[in-house]
Amino acid sequence: MNSYDVAIIGSGPGGYVAAIRCAQLGMKTAIIEKYSVLGGTCLNVGCIPSKALLDSSHHYEDAVKHFEEHGIEIPGEVKVNLEKMIARKQLVVDQTTGGIDFLMKKNKIDVYQGVGSFKDATHLVIKGDKEEEIEAKHTIIATGSKPSTLPFINIDKERVITSTEALKLKEVPKHLIIIGGGVIGLELGQVYKRLGAEVSVVEYMDRIIPTMDAGLSKELNKVLKKAKFKMNVSHKVKSVERVGDEVIVKADDKKGNEVVFKGDYCLVSVGRRPYTDGLNAEAAGVVLNDRGQVEVNEHLQTSASNIYAIGDVIKGAMLAHKAEEEGVFVAETIAGQKPHIDYNLIPGVVYTWPEVAAVGQTEEALKEAGVAYKVGQFPMRALGRARASMDIDGFVKVLADKNTDEILGVHMIGARAADMIAEAVVAMEYRASAEDVSRMSHAHPTFTEAIKEAALAATGDRALHV
Ligand code: FAD
Ligand code: NAD
Repeated sequence: MNSYDVAIIGSGPGGYVAAIRCAQLGMKTAIIEKYSVLGGTCLNVGCIPSKALLDSSHHYEDAVKHFEEHGIEIPGEVKVNLEKMIARKQLVVDQTTGGIDFLMKKNKIDVYQGVGSFKDATHLVIKGDKEEEIEAKHTIIATGSKPSTLPFINIDKERVITSTEALKLKEVPKHLIIIGGGVIGLELGQVYKRLGAEVSVVEYMDRIIPTMDAGLSKELNKVLKKAKFKMNVSHKVKSVERVGDEVIVKADDKKGNEVVFKGDYCLVSVGRRPYTDGLNAEAAGVVLNDRGQVEVNEHLQTSASNIYAIGDVIKGAMLAHKAEEEGVFVAETIAGQKPHIDYNLIPGVVYTWPEVAAVGQTEEALKEAGVAYKVGQFPMRALGRARASMDIDGFVKVLADKNTDEILGVHMIGARAADMIAEAVVAMEYRASAEDVSRMSHAHPTFTEAIKEAALAATGDRALHV
């Protein structure tokens, strides 16, 4: 029987990064993945393919709607070849997952293909083409998550679909009904809206992206409505029925009136659930909580002291970069180091256009905690860079402590916000004040000037260009 210092179950961004860090620290490492392709949700049916389709559909929209005003004329009609678009997305996925195979080999990590389950706290059974058993001093559970649904919905994967199917549709829907106005619903909704679908979002809460700062929800809602998204917030879905090629969704609005939506596809994007099916966690003494997450302490250690868990399968944001940080954290903990993660500084991004990005506390959270804060906000449309590219929607908002001026949160919506948020993370990691950021030189013309201006505004109404 092969014996390892560390075995990792699951090869998503949590698992494969943990494996690399364990190997770097000199531990004999194995990774177990039930699918034949490494990379987990993120690389195969999550972050990477969704961004590939967002990019392709963005090019199409630019060609149809914006090239002309830039003085670019296309003789004839611009057409979508969805099959080719999906094939390019798959090529990007294949290249990216192939890169993980390379990294496993480079770091001398043994890869097992099959479903991993606990025999006991130090032995794992792997059921693939054949059944194997390995011994592991330490195990890291990185089994991720799967789409969740509502009890009365039958996901048939043809017309009533999750994000996984939405990434490989064979036709552009005529009318896509999206249940859940969160990250997946809006990103994939934008893909198909750009490609010509009518899109109706049905959201239970009173605003889209309800966990983010309300100012961001409001601005994104405005932009998407301008793009003819049909937004239905404060709607409680009560049935989803498929009749032939039609899907009928019934919901009650805020006043209790029934609203009926008829479309040809329905995307269910109401969140994801931790995935532990087939793991036999109890055999190792690993306890799950009432939300089905693997319960962990502050060292990400489960109730079995030699077993750790990371990523979507534990509490916290379901984000690839959070899973990666936790992978490194656990590898270093097992190696006897004392790593640290500041969960407050894990940024959240929605890759619509304009992009939405945030780090730290929202205004709502600061109000609730009774923290005295000040706000500096700067509109993208006041930037020369934004006017040059005609990306004028959005703003940057800096929240700073009223007494100390320390930055407590940065919330932005606009072109390239996904990349710009890194500046806010760095500033907050070093506990910068709004004045610190306002006195740093930002290249002109760039979108990042909006961060400096918002920091100036927070420092005492000192923004220069409004
Ligand atoms: P996963 O990536 O889910 O990987 C878990 C792996 O474990 C899977 O490969 C699974 O097959 C394997 N596994 C499970 N059980 C077993 C077992 N018993 N034996 C062997 N193998 C097993 N996050 C971002 O940060 N940015 C984004 O832009 C983004 N976009 C997304 C878009 C979509 C459409 C979706 C669905 C998700 C997106 N996410 C994004 C979320 C991101 O994909 C997850 O947070 C991330 O993949 C979690 O990583 P993980 O390693 O915890 O688990
Ligand atoms: P989400 O939590 O972002 O959004 C779910 C939405 O569904 C919420 O707005 C919620 O209020 C709504 N909802 C819940 N129950 C409902 C009901 N009964 N009727 C109507 N609406 C309902 O979840 P998601 O969009 O499914 O994404 C799943 C996870 O994947 C998220 O945790 C997210 O972090 C991750 N993800 C991240 C990215 C990114 O980082 N860009 C992209 C995609 C997915």
